[in-house]
Amino acid sequence: MTIRRAQSPPVFRFAPSPNGFLHLGHAASALINQALARRHGGRFLLRIEDIDRGRSREAFVDAIYEDLAWLGLGWEEPVLKQSDRIDAYVSAAGRLSELGLLYPCFASRAEINSAAMRMQSGLDPDGAVIYPGLHRDLPVDVIGQRIMAGEPFAMRLNMERAVREVRGEAGAELSYLETGQQHGARLVSVDPMRWGDVVLQRKDVPTSYHLAVVIDDAHQRITHVVRGQDLQPATAIHRMLQQLLGFAAPVYHHHRLVRDVLGRKLSKSDAATSLRSLREAGWSPGDVIEKLGLEGLQ
Ligand code: GLU
Repeated sequence: MTIRRAQSPPVFRFAPSPNGFLHLGHAASALINQALARRHGGRFLLRIEDIDRGRSREAFVDAIYEDLAWLGLGWEEPVLKQSDRIDAYVSAAGRLSELGLLYPCFASRAEINSAAMRMQSGLDPDGAVIYPGLHRDLPVDVIGQRIMAGEPFAMRLNMERAVREVRGEAGAELSYLETGQQHGARLVSVDPMRWGDVVLQRKDVPTSYHLAVVIDDAHQRITHVVRGQDLQPATAIHRMLQQLLGFAAPVYHHHRLVRDVLGRKLSKSDAATSLRSLREAGWSPGDVIEKLGLEGLQ
């Protein structure tokens, strides 16, 4: 891993969402982060990403603390919870709005899906339909009327405009530094256009994963974002938001995913690989580390 020589120590973070029990994949992320922080004399922070009020549960927050402590991890207090940071997200969204980069979208999931089908707008890297631009150019008076009528709306990023803003006249390339766990770093160029007009403020909460993660990584001065490979494509959006908001770019490491016997990514709904069921089945933290092949990291 490439560590910049800086005055202050590197800062790592593990940022789970409390909408289920942690599984082996989370254990891998948390253990790698903590081991790298230790190895490089850095700090290790835990962040609770609980903006999804419908799915987050306080019991899962407690379970995160319990499971990580059982694994032998320690983190700095106080732990930052994203639900306490809504004002910061709203103010950043306001800055993007002032740049003319956000617009309200009233469309329902069903309307979006059928328009996307009609217009063959394709899929984003997560396999969701790319927003077909339905409300990108709604007249101001229509927007006003719909808001006045109390219709719920999300705020979407006008991706084409945002990319133009970031790339400038010269069409500068957008990239980030991806490092290995042990060695070497490479510059990866990214194309946020693959995501289309992503939602930055949801209908039910005035932020989204992408906006909150970028603001908090900057707020907590995270120097190294270490997370699973499934989040690598999203780094394109995160780099662009960092540029738009004037934040420094962290270095990234996207680690291999832990898969089940069928080769599928682990999911929180699959109880069998949750750390607590493994613990109840008699596993020790050492067994988890061995199963993940992370003995060398400690
Ligand atoms: N909260 C996200 C998750 O649990 C991870 C965010 C990140 O590491 O960037 O999948």
